[in-house]
Amino acid sequence: MDLYEYQARELFQQHGIPVPDAETVRTAREARAAAERLGGRAVIKAQVKTGGRGKAGGVKPAADPAAAELTARQILTMDIKGHRVHQVMVARPVAIEAECYVSYALDRAAGHFLAIASAEGGMDIEEVAATRPEAVARIPVDPGQGVTADKARDIAAAAGLPPATAPVLQRLWQVLTAEDALLVEVNPLVRTDDGDILALDGKITLDDNARFRQSRWGDDTDTHDDPLEAAAAGKGIGYLRLDGEVGIIGNGAGLVMSTLDVVAGCGARPANFLDIGGGASATVMADALSLVLADPKVRSVLVNVFGGITACDAVADGIVTALDTVRLTKPLVVRLDGNNAVRGRAILAERAHPLVQQATTMDGAARQAADLANDAAAV
Ligand code: GDP
Ligand code: MN
Repeated sequence: MDLYEYQARELFQQHGIPVPDAETVRTAREARAAAERLGGRAVIKAQVKTGGRGKAGGVKPAADPAAAELTARQILTMDIKGHRVHQVMVARPVAIEAECYVSYALDRAAGHFLAIASAEGGMDIEEVAATRPEAVARIPVDPGQGVTADKARDIAAAAGLPPATAPVLQRLWQVLTAEDALLVEVNPLVRTDDGDILALDGKITLDDNARFRQSRWGDDTDTHDDPLEAAAAGKGIGYLRLDGEVGIIGNGAGLVMSTLDVVAGCGARPANFLDIGGGASATVMADALSLVLADPKVRSVLVNVFGGITACDAVADGIVTALDTVRLTKPLVVRLDGNNAVRGRAILAERAHPLVQQATTMDGAARQAADLANDAAAV
């Protein structure tokens, strides 16, 4: 999960990384008041979880509180790459002498982190990286050793950053480890005319696997613009909407991914990814079915479950209970295999719902669901 700039800024502050004075507000009126408190002049910055705000017109200077109000009003109506702006940061302007780029990112393939740094940071860093890769230093960081004072000096020297940035580089590593982040990025990290080092922008991606211990980041509305995805997130279900017509429900990310592939192989397009996870209780199954059926593009639904710790009879019970609470409007193909599959199939057969049919193999189930979706399309 990505954090907003203002949230990243908060973490930087907590870890002793200097940032400009700023307030984050939801209305133009509040932006004016914030600019007044900052002494009049301000930079108004859209708070959206996407980069390139500057180039999109989402970062603008304002000469006085009245201008801050006007600019904030305009930025608050913006949509930047599909992200609606709901909040703006009102920041004290900084006289920039040099703009650097710094990040730590996980290099999964190499099994270590990578410090990426450049003395030529700012809005054109992508172009710098593409045209003059030698201007961007990439230094491996052993996660066991981390960024010590020495290592921070090495990184700064390799990238040609001002030596005064080294303590910030070290603290930025502490942000990464303490906050369970997979990525921390500061662009630009600036040296001001007064020689101060300031983090002027921040991007942090948290490791979702560590969410249980970073629970204070509740508000994740920006990443769930899709109402069904937002509803699923609220219920703790891993749901991702796709473009097709076959609704998919399965247990375990790997099985669900393969199910998407097999359905595609049968000439139909999956409508979603939905992983009910390990505990396929009746409630979870009912929630999953309602979610998938709420997508108007869905023409058939495929439930593909391999019983493990959660046995197939429990899943079948879940489906039967769900059929009492959710009105089934599309044909449902169920494939149960693994632990207690025979018992599970018997439970479904006994319920004998006219729109539910069973298959014994994954390929067979995918074929049936694909054909049902394609037949429905032909009508
Ligand atoms: P991004 O485009 O989404 O990365 O947004 P940034 O927060 O990085 O802002 C874009 C650019 O605006 C920065 O690279 C700076 O050049 C400029 N900028 C942002 N804040 C200030 C400021 O306080 N003073 C000055 N002079 N420039 C700023
Ligand atoms: Mn930036």
